[in-house]
Formats: sequence, structure tokens, C-alpha cells
Amino acid sequence: MPSEFSGKHVTVAGLGVSGVPAAKVLHGLGAHVTVVNDGADERARTQAAELEALGVTVRLGDGAASDSGSAAGLPEGTELIVTAPGWKPTKPLFAAAEQAGVPVWGDVELAWRLRGHGGRKAAPWLAVTGTNGKTTTVQMLASILDAAGLRTAAVGNIGVSLLDEVTGDTEYDVLAVELSSYQLHWAPSLRAHSAVVLNLAADHLDWHGSMEAYAADKGRVYEGNQVACVYNVADRATEDLVRAADVEEGCRAVGFTLGTPGPSQLGVVEGLLVDRAFVEDRHKNAQELAEVSDVNPPAPHNIANALAAAALARAYGVPAAAVRDGLRAFTPDAHRIAHVADVDGVAYVDDSKATNTHAAEASLAAYESIVWIAGGLAKGATFDELVAGAAKRLRGAVLIGADRALIREALTRHAPEVPVVDLDRTDTGAMPQAVQEARRLAEPGDTVLLAPACASMDMFTNYNKRGDAFAEAVRELGA
Ligand code: ADP
Repeated sequence: MPSEFSGKHVTVAGLGVSGVPAAKVLHGLGAHVTVVNDGADERARTQAAELEALGVTVRLGDGAASDSGSAAGLPEGTELIVTAPGWKPTKPLFAAAEQAGVPVWGDVELAWRLRGHGGRKAAPWLAVTGTNGKTTTVQMLASILDAAGLRTAAVGNIGVSLLDEVTGDTEYDVLAVELSSYQLHWAPSLRAHSAVVLNLAADHLDWHGSMEAYAADKGRVYEGNQVACVYNVADRATEDLVRAADVEEGCRAVGFTLGTPGPSQLGVVEGLLVDRAFVEDRHKNAQELAEVSDVNPPAPHNIANALAAAALARAYGVPAAAVRDGLRAFTPDAHRIAHVADVDGVAYVDDSKATNTHAAEASLAAYESIVWIAGGLAKGATFDELVAGAAKRLRGAVLIGADRALIREALTRHAPEVPVVDLDRTDTGAMPQAVQEARRLAEPGDTVLLAPACASMDMFTNYNKRGDAFAEAVRELGA
């Protein structure tokens, strides 16, 4: 069957997790595909060889991804660009596309347009974005939908290619879709069934150019929503984005809160998660969904994630019992507030995924008395607000990594009484030493919390490796 892509000249910008599936799918639909990619490392060459074997043209070391330079022109005859989401909008390639009137889509836009292609069922999307908590929320959502007996999957930014799922053989009733701000930027026609922006804090501003541009890209997730725009009552900016969105007639704004919910909100009452949005006569009635202890772990920010997931599931019509069952069945991914061990009455918790201050703030708020292991690459962040907010909970701090001085200075300013150990080493022995220092500072009943508020790449390959090093060092303590 001829598709709208047959015979079309499409340039795929960037190989990798989005580019390779995009090139394959478009090629399969009869497009003339050219892939441009700046790097030419071994992985790129392997991917290129695989695509070339199919008949796709690949230009490695192309210069298209660079921020300057004339090599970045459009390949001859390009009618559409499908870009990797991480490519900055300021690249000359996109300026050239705009000048030539060539549309630019991300892989999510392509997946959105191809859903239902080839006679498959076009499953609606329940979309999740926000600065922190996306992966957890989307997994909780998928678990709830699954408990309701629906055919579903957690897809998108979570590392499962949306394009592969949408064009694959498995049919779904509904998809739980995690979207990054980059992906939303490049997905102009996406229209979710319902969506949530979990929270908004400064992140990735170098890419977006400004907080306003970042917020606007996050807010795109609400555009055209059909049933519910779910926002965070504690984060005004998310509600403002709902107001700014152009939605389908009848679509409702639904808030989630850790407090008592008002009408059209989900919240917490006496240890219960409660729905006052998707019930009959919401001014008088409320529906119990689950107990707070059904949420794993029951830290405040994670309860917020559970409420957001529940709101999207309820918007889709899922019964209350499935929300409870789905939350009970959910286990968080590694390195997200993972309890590693108790040693001598002290709990050791790995939240290596807290790679920015907003995330670290949430995990520090979850414990009463903390020895905090922090530091790494700050990515331009400042730590005053974080430290001032957590000061009274800190038993001590152990600082690691390249930008630890920034945290030390914030501690001196806002928590001068708190003992600080500043580890002046970044070799593999640093983490065991940090854990030993933390043990020395901790008292029974305390929590030693790895919530670095920084990226890990100064010392580790990624946050997983950092968390693994922590867990191993903790296990050695107990041995
Ligand atoms: P994302 O996919 O947005 O990076 P994750 O679910 O992987 O989010 O969680 C990343 C980190 O963010 C967690 O380790 C935790 O520290 C923090 N976090 C999770 N949920 C929230 C939330 N609702 N608000 C603030 N921080 C959160």
C-alpha cells in the first residue's frame, strides 16, 4: 500500500536510539532516506553499516550536528527532517530547513502520525512529562493499566522506542508515554488522551535557551488533550500551563495534591489516596483508591507520582481497585530511593538518580535525620536553596566529585553547624571512603542518603554505576 512517505526524500538527523528505528521505518514505507550524523565512532559505523545494507544512505562525520559551519546544509532534495530529540533547535541545519520551508519532526511526531498505520489499532496515549518523576510515574501508570486488564506498555523517553511500539506487531489498548521536553519540542501535532506535567524546575536551560521556552515545551503535552489535563497543585507553573493550553471541548483540569483534595482533585486523606475528580457529584463524594502504604517507597514525592499516575488512569476510566492493585505491584527502578541495607541501626539509601537539585530536594524531604552524600558535576546549578531547606535534617554531609566546593560553600552559609567531610579524591576508592565517613557521622535511626544533586560523569560512567559503587561499599560495611 503506498504511504504518504513513498518516494519522499527524508533526512534523518542523528543515529542512535531514535534515528535508527526512524530510518528503518521510513525506508520500509518507501521513503528515500539519508541519515546524517556527526560522530563516526565504532557504534555509529556499526549502525551505519546496518542501515546501508538495507539501502539507506548514511553520511557519517557530516557536520550537520555542529553548532556552526557551512557543512550543515540540507541534503539535496530534502522534503522532511526527522531529528533526534537531543539536537538543539539552534543548529544551522534547522535554520536551513526553515528557510526552505522543510518541516522538522522528532521521532515522537513520526510515531504519533504513524499510529494506527497498516490497520493496527491506534491506541490512545496517556502522556507524562515534568522535570522529575517521569519514569516512575509512567511505570506506575502502566502497572495500574495492566492491573485493569488493559493491553499496555510504558514507552517513550523511558528507553523503549515509541516508533518501534507503534509500528510493531503488538496491539495495545492504551500506551503510557514518557516524554522529555526535547521530544515535546519536536512533536507539534501530538494530541494525548490525557497528560500530566508533574513539576517544573530549571533544567536543560542550555538547550531550551530560557525557562520560558523550557516551560512552553513541557506545556505542549497538554495541547489538544481530550479528557484531562492533570497538574500539580503544589506547583503553580504546571497549572498555568494547563490554562495556556488549547484543549478539546469538555477536557477537564484535574489537580493532584499531598493535602486534602478539593473538587476535581486527587489527594490524601488520613493515609488514603482519594479521588474527588472522577466520581459522581465530586462536590459531595470521594472515592478511596489505595492506602499511602501501597506506594513504594511511600516518600512524599513518590506519593505525588502515584496520584498523578492514578489521575491519568482514572481519566481513562480505570476502576479504583486497579489503581490499588497496580500500585502494589509496582517496584521502582534501581537507584531511585532504593533501600540498600540497614547497618548498626542506620539505613543506607541509594538515590543516585537524583542528578539535579530538584530531585535531591525531594529525597532529602523524605527523611528526618540524614547523613547526606552529595556532589559530582553541578551543570551550572546553585545549592543555596537546597541546603537551606534541608539544613535542619542534616546530621552531616560527605562531599564527593568535581563541583563539591559549591555544595560546601552553601553548607557553610546555611548550615554552619553541620559537620562536613570533603573528600578530595575522585578515584574508584572515593565511594567506599565516602560511605565509611558517612557511617562515622551517622547515629542509630539516621539515614545515609546518596542524593548527589549532581551528574555523575566526573567520577562514574553514569548514575547507575555511581549507585552500584555506593551499594557495594554499603555491603562491605555489613560484611
Ligand atoms: P525522571 O524520569 O523524570 O528522571 P525518575 O522517576 O527517574 O524521573 O526519578 C528521578 C529522580 O527524581 C528520583 O531519583 C528522585 O530523586 C526524584 N523524583 C522522583 N519523583 C519526583 C517528584 N515527583 N518530584 C521531585 N523529585 C522527584
